Amino acid sequence: MPRVAFIGLGKMGHGMAGRYLDAGFTVSVWNRSRAKADDLIARGAQWATSPEDAAIDADAVVTMVADDEASRRVWLGTDGAAANMKAGTLAIECSTVSHWHALEMAREFASRGLVYIDCPVTGLPAAAAEGKLTLLVGADPADLEMARPFLAPIGTTIRHFGAVGSGTVFKLINNLMGAVQIASLAEGVAIAEQAGLDMNLVAEALSTGAVASPQVIRHSKRMVARDFSGATFTSALRHKDAAYAVALAESLLPGVPVSRSALLAYEQAKAHAPDGDEGQMIEIVSQPK
Ligand code: NAP
Repeated sequence: MPRVAFIGLGKMGHGMAGRYLDAGFTVSVWNRSRAKADDLIARGAQWATSPEDAAIDADAVVTMVADDEASRRVWLGTDGAAANMKAGTLAIECSTVSHWHALEMAREFASRGLVYIDCPVTGLPAAAAEGKLTLLVGADPADLEMARPFLAPIGTTIRHFGAVGSGTVFKLINNLMGAVQIASLAEGVAIAEQAGLDMNLVAEALSTGAVASPQVIRHSKRMVARDFSGATFTSALRHKDAAYAVALAESLLPGVPVSRSALLAYEQAKAHAPDGDEGQMIEIVSQPK
C-alpha cells in the first residue's frame, strides 16, 4: 500500500490521518504534542520523531496545521519534512494558509525537484473523521492526477480551481464570507435581544428564512442560547483566515469595507476567547459599551 506521512493531528488532522489507516495505507504521523497521536498509534500508525522522520520513504506528505508559521516549521524547519522527501514525493498542504505562503512553498518545493499542491478543505471535524471533506485544489492537472489516490480517503468532492495557489484563493474567499455572515448574525441577534423579541422565534425564523445560510443555521440557536460547547472552529482560526483573505483582497481589489469590518470584529473575538467557538462573537457584540 502507499505510504503517507501525516503531520498535524488537531481537530481536523486527527480524523484525516485516521482515514488513511481505515483505507489501509501505511501511515507515519507527527504532531507537536505527541499525546494526540496515541490512539492512532494504537490503530497502527507509526510515530515519527520529527516531520523529517515522518517523511522518510513516504509517497506523499500531508499537512494539516494551524497557519503559515506552523506550515513553514513542519515543511522547512530544521527538522522539516522537505529535507527527507525524495524526488516524486508529493507535498499536499491541507492547512488553510495565506495565498502568498502557498505560492512561496510551491516555488521552494519546485526548486528542490518536488511537487507541492494546495488542498485546503471545507467541512467540520466530524466530516474529516468520516472522509467527507470537500477538497479545494490548486495544482497542475498532472500533479492532481498523481495526488488523487491520496485525496480519495479524505474527501468526497474535489474542486480543482486551477494552478497551485488557486485552491487557497477560493478557500480564503469562502472563509472571509463566513466571517462576514457570522459577525452580521451576531449583530442581528444582539439587536433582536435589545428590542425584546421572542428569541426562540427569532432563532427559528433566521435559520429557516431568506438569510438561512449554513453558517446562520449552524450559529443562530447557539448564539441565542449562548451555548458554545464543542467548539469546532475557533475565533483564532477564523481571524487568521479573515486576515489572510483581506491581505489577498487588498492586493487585488483595494477597499473591501465589509470584509475589513468582519476582520476587525474577529480581532476582538480572538482577543476575547481565542480558543473559543467562533460563534462567541455574540458575546462581544452584546457587551455593554
Ligand atoms: P487545531 O485543532 O487547533 O490544530 C492545529 C494543529 O496545528 C495542531 O496539530 C497543532 O499542534 C498544530 N500547530 C499549531 N502551531 C504549530 C507550530 N508552530 N508548529 C507545529 N505545529 C503546530 O486546528 P484545526 O481545527 O484542526 O485546524 C487545522 C487547519 O485546518 C487550520 O488551518 C484551519 O484553518 C483548517 N480548517 C479547520 C476546520 C475546522 O472546522 N476546525 C475546517 C476547515 C479547515 P498541537 O496539537 O501540538 O497544538
